[in-house]
Amino acid sequence: MTLLPDPPVIEFRSVALTYPGPPPVSALLPCDLTVRRGEYITVVGPSGSGKSTFLNIAGLLDLPTHGTYLLDGIDTATIRDVERTGLRGSRIGFVFQAFHLLPHRTARENVELAMLYQRTNRAARRARAHTALERVGLGHRMDALPTRLSGGERQRVAIARALVTNPSLLLCDEPTGNLDTATATAILHLLDTLHGDGMTILVITHDPQVAARAQRTVTIRDGILTDGAPQRAHP
Ligand code: ADP
Repeated sequence: MTLLPDPPVIEFRSVALTYPGPPPVSALLPCDLTVRRGEYITVVGPSGSGKSTFLNIAGLLDLPTHGTYLLDGIDTATIRDVERTGLRGSRIGFVFQAFHLLPHRTARENVELAMLYQRTNRAARRARAHTALERVGLGHRMDALPTRLSGGERQRVAIARALVTNPSLLLCDEPTGNLDTATATAILHLLDTLHGDGMTILVITHDPQVAARAQRTVTIRDGILTDGAPQRAHP
């Protein structure tokens, strides 16, 4: 039996996006990027540099106008919209700056909702939500409404919701942007732990301190993506 090599989680081949305008805006210039399973990578760049454009492509929310994007070895351009939506729901866990929790649902219900479109019965959904919340240190707050939780706890619920479908990739957009320094550090520590457990993590941030936590940093500036942290200006 021949074992096929494990494909990268993300493979960008000359991926670019130009918004049609008018006038057209080349928000992401052709770039190559490979993210291997188990990597922790940050994408850093100032406001307007193309980070959201990159996030939307990597998260299968937008199609590039040029190039090829393989997710887990699957060419995401050649599949139907419904399959792409399925791929997004099953392989990518999103964590946003603003948490995006439903206010009238408990922590556990918010996590369970991520599995709504999976063929999982109610009892299994509850059990998996419980496990995911325990994994992020919130087993004791499962029945709380988001309004009764601190910012850091809300972000933990959002991370549990992202993890519960057992995704290939945790895609985080400014995950500490709404948190004070101590809480942000605790969330970054949680991401370190998840990475230690083998999770592939991609964090998009404008904050060099958040970027520095990862194994690897790529920089976007004026739509140009380059491997490596931004060069410091010489004094
Ligand atoms: P960032 O997330 O780093 O702030 P964006 O990806 O949002 O950057 O934006 C990159 C560039 O693309 C900016 O010049 C922005 O004005 C432009 N842009 C973003 N969205 C659109 C759009 N829908 N149409 C045209 N231009 C856009």
